Amino acid sequence: MVGLVVVSHSRALARAAAALAAEMVPDRPVPLEVAAGLDETTFGTDAVAITEAVTAADHGDGVVVLMDLGSAVLSAELALDLLEDGVRDRVVLTPAPLVEGLIAATVAAAGGATRQEVAEEAAGALSGKQSHLGAPPPGPASAPPSGPGPSATVTVVNPHGLHARPAARLVTQVRSFDATVELRNATTGSAWVPAASLSRLATLGVLQGHEIGVRASGPQAAAAVEAVVALAARSFDETGASPPPPATAPAPVAPGAGRPASPGIGHGPARHASTAEPEIPDVPSRGPGAEWQRIEDALSTARQDLLRIRAGTTDDHAGIFDAHLLLLDDADLLDDVRSRIEGGSPAPRAWADATARIAAEFDALPDAYLQARATDVRSVGTQVLRTLLGVPATAMPDEGVLIAADLSPADAAALDPARITGILLASGSPTSHGAILARTRGIPAVVAVGPALLDIPEGTPVALDGATGEVVVDPSEPVLAALRERAVAQASRRRRALARAAEPAVTRDGVPIAVGANVGSVADADSAATSGADLAGLIRTEFLFLGRDTAPDADEQEAVYRQIAAALDGRRLRIRTLDVGGDKPLPYAPAAAEDNPFLGVRGIRHSLAHPALLAAQLLAIVRVAHDVPVDVMFPMVSTVDEVVAARRMLGEAMSLAGGSARPGLRVGIMVEVPAAALKAAALAPHVDFLSIGTNDLTQYALAAERGNPALATLADGLDPGVLRLIDAVCRGAGDRVSVSVCGELAADETAVPLLAGLGVRELSVAPPLIPAVKEAVRATDRARAAAVAARALGSDGPAAVRALS
Ligand code: PEP
Ligand code: MG
Repeated sequence: MVGLVVVSHSRALARAAAALAAEMVPDRPVPLEVAAGLDETTFGTDAVAITEAVTAADHGDGVVVLMDLGSAVLSAELALDLLEDGVRDRVVLTPAPLVEGLIAATVAAAGGATRQEVAEEAAGALSGKQSHLGAPPPGPASAPPSGPGPSATVTVVNPHGLHARPAARLVTQVRSFDATVELRNATTGSAWVPAASLSRLATLGVLQGHEIGVRASGPQAAAAVEAVVALAARSFDETGASPPPPATAPAPVAPGAGRPASPGIGHGPARHASTAEPEIPDVPSRGPGAEWQRIEDALSTARQDLLRIRAGTTDDHAGIFDAHLLLLDDADLLDDVRSRIEGGSPAPRAWADATARIAAEFDALPDAYLQARATDVRSVGTQVLRTLLGVPATAMPDEGVLIAADLSPADAAALDPARITGILLASGSPTSHGAILARTRGIPAVVAVGPALLDIPEGTPVALDGATGEVVVDPSEPVLAALRERAVAQASRRRRALARAAEPAVTRDGVPIAVGANVGSVADADSAATSGADLAGLIRTEFLFLGRDTAPDADEQEAVYRQIAAALDGRRLRIRTLDVGGDKPLPYAPAAAEDNPFLGVRGIRHSLAHPALLAAQLLAIVRVAHDVPVDVMFPMVSTVDEVVAARRMLGEAMSLAGGSARPGLRVGIMVEVPAAALKAAALAPHVDFLSIGTNDLTQYALAAERGNPALATLADGLDPGVLRLIDAVCRGAGDRVSVSVCGELAADETAVPLLAGLGVRELSVAPPLIPAVKEAVRATDRARAAAVAARALGSDGPAAVRALS
């Protein structure tokens, strides 16, 4: 195979170009060497380095050298002189443009072209761009092959047409035949061009839906045409490209393709999450320093959100989010914002005005593509503005099924269940905080449906089953009837469970298991009481802190905790201290920018780093604990030292509140970090209870981020590795310390007997799920469950565990 050498002043540039080219032919690596820069960061070229690169790239078929400009060309010529005669004769220096030329050359070389052919391909690499931009393409239209040969017509279904990657696939494929293959764009009536040339293919301007003619001559002509037809039928092996849907009535988006996230049937008109710009209050600047800090914090939050959503999307759509991410760092935009802030504007006003200016500039451009960038600027502008103002993004004016890319915890907290009949998310996963909040509100939800979801026109009827993950767009009457029937059956099962929900849940062999509620608002506490909760097993206090720009003080917190206590009417409250960081950043107590926020300053780490925040919260909790039974729970604990430090602060809050340690006030931690699970015996002497947060424990045990839809199958709480950690907690806790589970696994009816069998004596779930979980406990024989659980620990995967259960 012909080798390639990239000579450039910049090592970073050369490497990036090489990586881009290699991407075109992932299955056929081409010998490619880089001779660029004087070191990692110093610009320059070096003839000796070029000589070495040529020698390394030469595998006998010769080498084509691509250069950027100026001394790169001179150094390459000098390098030629330094080469041995035999090698020098096999080297071609090409005047090709570096990036386009390298891509064309790589594809040609991968297809087995000679070095002259490779060099010609590289030299003609600008033709696609030239023809696209209206300049005459170099090179004549291909002459028809002599004599009639096999031919065919295929339709290109790839969303972006025959762009670089599918075209590269086509070129390498046709080059493998002993045939001359030609293509024309039959839709535009173009001339025939050689299919073995990436640059000539680019001149065809093939878009999705275009028909291309294929013809060939030579000994393997028929096989070559057949191969092109087969390749087109496979969408040129481009992942994510599939034939457009038939023009008939809309079919299901993908029944079962989403992940079930909150049970129940929902249907109604599609309502996309509002992108309307929020109103900016007329408040004065707090000074340039403080206002610029607000901008930086909001940008960092927006960046994390975009990266999270991007991680869960396909390559084809990732570009949209990449463009949005670039805008967050746009120097022109940020300079403008800064000068407006320095001129006395508060951050939201400066940001809104600067983004409006840039969007208007894009609007004014004649090119439709560039005009469309205005939409990107407005979209990012609004996203950051909402963060600056603490306004959730899901304000929904009308009733229907909410459709969004993803749901941040702040957005989900603002959902109005009276208006939202269902939630469909393109991204997300069942243990993301958005999904948890949907479950808590009893709103049927399906997540990780895919980006096609976002193309459903506003108002289109949609239906979903949050227990199976089915999504149907514009359901026919029979489909709706079947879904209604399912909903009736689910409702009657639920009614039966609800009738006994207030009674304790006791296994068949007499072991009581308390079933508590996960509460994230005062409304959840009301719903917990009516759903038969034995206690509030997890009060996520974040709802009090997120979506605002200052922290609630101890008085405000105390008032809200008392409202929750009143709703729960004497039941025990397990109040978790603030658990922010990760996917729940707090604008007024930010962690420094983190590459891996889930492995960063989260939970107790964040609280210990912001002692004033923790002190105020503990004071509020201690005051409430004088009057009602309260547990304090610290999240994300990794070490004994953290517990000791947190308990010390709790002691200080007690002295401040003027009371001695109340016998009813118990202290516990969440076990979410695998190391903490394995150290349960060391942690147990410092606590009264251990509550296992299986959402985080699962993500950390399997190294699979909980909000990443691509990993939703991997992040399975029934993985035997996770069950072993739960088992370790139960064994390490000893007799004095109780063990509960408050992650989403506790609501999985398959998991309930296993958890009981391992020794868990308390579960805490979203309020609407309490009746069903109590029924699952009542159906469990604990002794038998213990035997099954022991076998589950030795299973090889979650599927085997499910089969056992
Ligand atoms: C958990 O991690 O399982 C948990 C209950 O905490 P959260 O979901 O709030 O992170
Ligand atoms: Mg957690």
